[in-house]
Amino acid sequence: MKNYDVVIIGAGAAGLMCALTAGQRGRKVLVLDHAERMGNKILISGGGSCNFTNLYLEPEHYISENPHFSKSALSRFSQYDFISLVEKYNISYQQRQAGQLFCNGNSVEILNLLLEECRLSEVKIQNRSTIKKIEKESRFTVKTNSEDYVTESLVIATGGLSMPRIGASGFGYEIAEQFGLKVLSRQPGLVPLTFNRDDLDDFSDLTGISADAAVTCNGQSFREAILFTHRGLSGPAVLQISNYWQPGDEVVINLLPDINLTETIKQWQKERPKTELKNLIGELLTRRVAHRRMGLWYHNKPVNQYNEKEINEVADIFHVWRIRPSGTEGYKVAEVTRGGVDTDELSSKTFETKNVKGLYFIGEVVDVTGWLGGYNLQWAWSSGYCAGQFV
Ligand SMILES: Cc1cc2nc3c(=O)[nH]c(=O)nc-3n(C[C@H](O)[C@H](O)[C@H](O)COP(=O)(O)OP(=O)(O)OC[C@H]3O[C@@H](n4cnc5c(N)ncnc54)[C@H](O)[C@@H]3O)c2cc1C
Repeated sequence: MKNYDVVIIGAGAAGLMCALTAGQRGRKVLVLDHAERMGNKILISGGGSCNFTNLYLEPEHYISENPHFSKSALSRFSQYDFISLVEKYNISYQQRQAGQLFCNGNSVEILNLLLEECRLSEVKIQNRSTIKKIEKESRFTVKTNSEDYVTESLVIATGGLSMPRIGASGFGYEIAEQFGLKVLSRQPGLVPLTFNRDDLDDFSDLTGISADAAVTCNGQSFREAILFTHRGLSGPAVLQISNYWQPGDEVVINLLPDINLTETIKQWQKERPKTELKNLIGELLTRRVAHRRMGLWYHNKPVNQYNEKEINEVADIFHVWRIRPSGTEGYKVAEVTRGGVDTDELSSKTFETKNVKGLYFIGEVVDVTGWLGGYNLQWAWSSGYCAGQFV
């Protein structure tokens, strides 16, 4: 049996950040991962350019049963701390919309940064390692397919359930349950929503069309693009709202968020009375979407033939499009997992479990889920760094 001060399971964003931080403190660290390659999600993140953080980092951009839990870690290792690391490695980056920072080059630069920092602090990383069993007496024993390890501090950084084909597993939740910790129910997050039968019949042939919209669910709104898919709706606004959606909930879409359509139609009645309304609305919105929404409810006619009641109804068709999704596209495409290890079980300072000395949970396995836009990786960096200070 080999002895380590710290064994970290999961060589993803949180695990590697924790490892390099603990290594810099002189701790003897081993990272185990069952995948062929480490940092798979970092590599595919941000479409291969890694949206590694967000300038507008706020605890309000995270969802958790305890909305205060993330505050401490996000302030102790902020976006600026990670940016300093990126700049130390001369990785060039750019700001896209809403404070999102992406590499100008490839995500592999971020992974290489983490691996190099681990190498400098003599962290040992072992992939293709299957964890067979974890036991605890005074210390933890981690039994793997190749060797057994004994450690004082055991960190679970195995992430969530999304994208099982690149290594995601429910391992972290199983270990939490093995040690009697509460695990909150999990759902795919940042995921496309699927249409119910009727909407599928009406809209599935609009696949590939995108529109700027305001999307609202459970009191939360996002103003970004939506994208019609062959099964439902995707695009950033829909991915964002999926974090707030529960099965059975209604989602309301405003397809003309910058316009008061009632007033605009009245204006058209004066200025372009003979023009058909659907064509006028088609000038404001993608033509096919405008025609489809109109066609489902109204026979088309010149704009001057609409009465007050009809004008209000047409305005609602575009401003208040109500859908009741049948579900989501699931973990195979979701970017994150909502829910997970209950934050009540953990110290927000150290990430150690309150009742099992030496056992830590960090990253996505914990019930903290970020918005789209670099927030989830920042959570991995922040939680990994904070635990790395104490393991
Ligand atoms: C397609 C996609 C794009 C994304 N883009 C972005 C983005 O641009 N910006 C952003 O902020 N977030 C993005 N995310 C989310 C972000 O990647 C994750 O939230 C983040 O990687 C979570 O870090 P983690 O370390 O907790 O888990 P992970 O990075 O998932 O790492 C977990 C590690 O544990 C290993 N593991 C799992 N089970 C076991 C087991 N049983 N035994 C041993 N090892 C195990 C896995 O192989 C993996 O290496 C994206 C996610 C996806 C799926």
